[in-house]
Amino acid sequence: MRLSWDQFFMAQSHLIANRSTCTRLAVGATIVRDRRIIAAGYNGSISGGVHCTDEGCYVIDGHCVRTIHAEMNAVLQCAKFGVPTQNAEIYVTHFPCLQCCKALIQAGIKKVYYANDYKNHPYAVELFEAAKVETIHVPFETPLEDVYAQDKLTFVAELLQALEAQNMDSEQLKKHYERAKALFAKEL
Ligand SMILES: [Zn+2]
Ligand SMILES: [Zn+2]
Repeated sequence: MRLSWDQFFMAQSHLIANRSTCTRLAVGATIVRDRRIIAAGYNGSISGGVHCTDEGCYVIDGHCVRTIHAEMNAVLQCAKFGVPTQNAEIYVTHFPCLQCCKALIQAGIKKVYYANDYKNHPYAVELFEAAKVETIHVPFETPLEDVYAQDKLTFVAELLQALEAQNMDSEQLKKHYERAKALFAKEL
C-alpha cells in the first residue's frame, strides 16, 4: 500500500498543524510545486510574539487577531526566501478563510486541496471560481502506518508458540490467540 501524493502532502499539513499556538483551531498548510514541498505553515503569532496558548486568544469581533493564518505563513515564507509561488498548489487542513483565499489567488496558487470544510465563505468560493483556482476536497485518511507492525506480529506469534510449548491451559491460550487476532486483524 503505497501512500498517494495527496495523502502524503495532507499528512504534512496535519503534522505541522500540531505546531499551532492558537487554542481556537489548529490549521496546517503545505505549498507544493512539481510534487516538491516548497513551504509550510501553521497558524500562530508573529515570530517572537506571545502565544495564545500562554496568554489566551486576543479576540475581536469573534476572531483571534493575534495569529497569522497557516496559508499566509506558508506564502510569507516563500516571500522571505524568494521562492516563486506561481502555479503552485496548496494542501490545507481547513478550507481557507476569505483573506487567505485572496492572498492565495494573488500569489498565483492554482489548486487548493482541503481536508475539512470550515465556514466556507460563499465569496471565497466565488473568488476561487472566478480566478480559475480549483478547490479539491481531500479528506485526510490518517495514513501513517506502523512500520514495526510486521515485527510486532512476529514477536506476538513467537510468544504464543512459546506459551503453547509450556503447556498453558488451553482456554487461557485460546483467549490470548483471539486477543492477538483482533489486534492484528488489520495487518493480517
Ligand atoms: Zn488565538
Ligand atoms: Zn485564513
